[in-house]
Amino acid sequence: MATIDPEFGKKLKKYGAYDFNACYNCGTCTAICSLSTENDSFPREMVRLSVLGDKDGIRSSLKPWLCYYCGECTTNCPRTANPGELMMSLRRWLTSAYDWTGLSGLLYRSLFLTISAFILVAAAVIGFGYYKNFSLEQVMHAGHYFEMIAIASVFTIILLPNIVRMWWYVIGKPKVKAPVASYFKAFDELLVHMFTQKRALSCDDNRFRWLEHLVLVIGYLSLLFTTVFLDWFSSSSLFVIILGYLESLVIFVVTVDFVWKRIKKDKEVSRHSQPSDWLFVIWLLLMGFSAFAVRLSIDTRLLDNNSWIYFVHLIILAQWALIIVPFGKWTHFLYRSFAMYMEKIKN
Ligand code: SF4
Ligand code: SF4
Repeated sequence: MATIDPEFGKKLKKYGAYDFNACYNCGTCTAICSLSTENDSFPREMVRLSVLGDKDGIRSSLKPWLCYYCGECTTNCPRTANPGELMMSLRRWLTSAYDWTGLSGLLYRSLFLTISAFILVAAAVIGFGYYKNFSLEQVMHAGHYFEMIAIASVFTIILLPNIVRMWWYVIGKPKVKAPVASYFKAFDELLVHMFTQKRALSCDDNRFRWLEHLVLVIGYLSLLFTTVFLDWFSSSSLFVIILGYLESLVIFVVTVDFVWKRIKKDKEVSRHSQPSDWLFVIWLLLMGFSAFAVRLSIDTRLLDNNSWIYFVHLIILAQWALIIVPFGKWTHFLYRSFAMYMEKIKN
């Protein structure tokens, strides 16, 4: 039996939703949505489940992840119930529902706790520097290993169990019958969506945004590879050095555009930014910028007398790896790809 939570609407507002109770079920949003089909009829269904407080129904649904937030439904809703932003809020709520640590929900709901977590991580990095007598060589060496350890542990300790929980809510608990072979057959869907997010192309007026995301994903993943596996900051290979510069520049340019759009608010998708949205784009921008600054100060021999440049980069990197990647908006990239995968398994 479904669990109905009469307080769900109030709780969802802490994740950014508002006014969805104004919905009078006209269906315009579903009719207008270019991603909504006969089998995947949203967002009206999600609005109804949210108004009812049907948490189980929402938790077992992949539909919030099938929306790519073009904002068309919100623009055309006659009751200004803002279904597009409701879908976004449901994605945040689902992220916290999947997260076994409970930290994701705490951070989404409280800006105070989010800022405290950022300060705590910064203090830990500075404390580590103090422990190493602020020796640039030692801290850079440790920073390089930190990246590898952080990637491996965040994935195995936090993200992997959360994906298993997602599977449990969507397929295991509702007893969806899916033959083992379907998990293999659908695997290409996971890879294609993870790297291209091609479904977003079906959203009207979304092509440039899709292209920006694609360039950003390629820039981000390749910079990760260049810093972690090609050891960009210590490399003397001209190819690796230039590659790292280009990748960090790509991240910087695209994220400056994202931040600018959120400031301008001229499109529905950037009109309602939550702290988690701001933190995601600003930290990505800072990562690209500070990585570029570190390598530039190495090449211009400025880093030895300005080791603070590396410390600032390490603080940004640690906050990104320990807060935003496991508990923040970064996870949407992962859950959305797995949602496409599970959707194909279910079908
Ligand atoms: S268009 Fe607005 S009022 Fe109509 S069903 Fe969608 S959310 Fe409700
Ligand atoms: S924001 Fe766009 S993709 Fe998402 S439900 Fe609304 S119309 Fe569909």
